[in-house]
Amino acid sequence: GKLRAGNSVSVFTPQMQQEINNNNHFTSIMEEALKNEEFVLHFQPKVLLSTEEMAGAEVLIRWQRADECLPPYHFIPLFEKNGFIEEMDYYVLTKTCVFLQNYQSIVKGRISVNLSGVTILQEKVVENIVAIVAKYEISPAQLDLEITETAFVDTSDVLEKIQQLRSHGFTISMDDFGAGVSSLNRLKNIHVDTLKIDREFIIDAIENPRGNKILQRVIEMANDLQLETVAEGIETIEQGTLLKNLGCQIGQGYYYARPMSKQQFITYCQDQHPS
Ligand code: C2E
Ligand code: CA
Ligand code: CA
Ligand code: CA
Repeated sequence: GKLRAGNSVSVFTPQMQQEINNNNHFTSIMEEALKNEEFVLHFQPKVLLSTEEMAGAEVLIRWQRADECLPPYHFIPLFEKNGFIEEMDYYVLTKTCVFLQNYQSIVKGRISVNLSGVTILQEKVVENIVAIVAKYEISPAQLDLEITETAFVDTSDVLEKIQQLRSHGFTISMDDFGAGVSSLNRLKNIHVDTLKIDREFIIDAIENPRGNKILQRVIEMANDLQLETVAEGIETIEQGTLLKNLGCQIGQGYYYARPMSKQQFITYCQDQHPS
């Protein structure tokens, strides 16, 4: 049988599923996977819409298990339930710092790391993040933290953590903006640096004139609030041109570059610096 985790269907074998259900055993599977470096970082560039030059990149995790490469929807919802997500997020941040130690000179813009809404609620999240970057001597000015819009619950707790992280020099992107229910209202009290406009918005804007008006107003409002805008999931030149004409600064999507392995990303970065 397949294991249901959120809306996604997992590809774990029945045997693995049983092991996972047994929490002790699950912990050892995860420790094994971490030790064997089965979680690998992929990178997707972000580009300036005006010139298509690199403006940063997002780290996206993959689980490389035997001969299969599992995308996050197979395991992140499960990790958010069993508590492993925190360890995963710190692992990704750590590996990103190691990457930057070696390659910061060729990376243009910040590297974005995703933080689960579960992780941001942890009491020591700020301390832990600050300790990781300090350990690897990476400046927070090289990093952006993407936090999904729905995690911005209007509690002083989360707001305070966001402010602390910003005061250390990280930037914060509100991810999947527009996918939640009360997006606009959240911006009233929450200070972030960047709005990452959800792909659904962009699809709507092409297909439907009303959607187009809404996207136009969202970008205007973001510009008024001095928020940077990143449009995610740009797959066509039409979408890229539309976003650029509406005043969005940065784009990310298959049209510009797909998520790629570390080696491919290094080559991509080097090609940005022709010598
Ligand atoms: P996300 O943060 O919204 O990431 C963007 C997703 O859109 C990625 O899926 C990316 O591969 C995909 N994408 C990029 N360009 C396009 C495009 O042009 N068209 C389409 N259709 N899709 C595009 P991916 O890599 O499968 O990641 C899915 C989600 O898993 C992410 O959504 C993020 O929420 C989560 N995730 C990934 N890595 C991490 C991580 O290290 N930690 C945490 N907490 N979550 C992660
Ligand atoms: Ca993201
Ligand atoms: Ca997103
Ligand atoms: Ca999305």
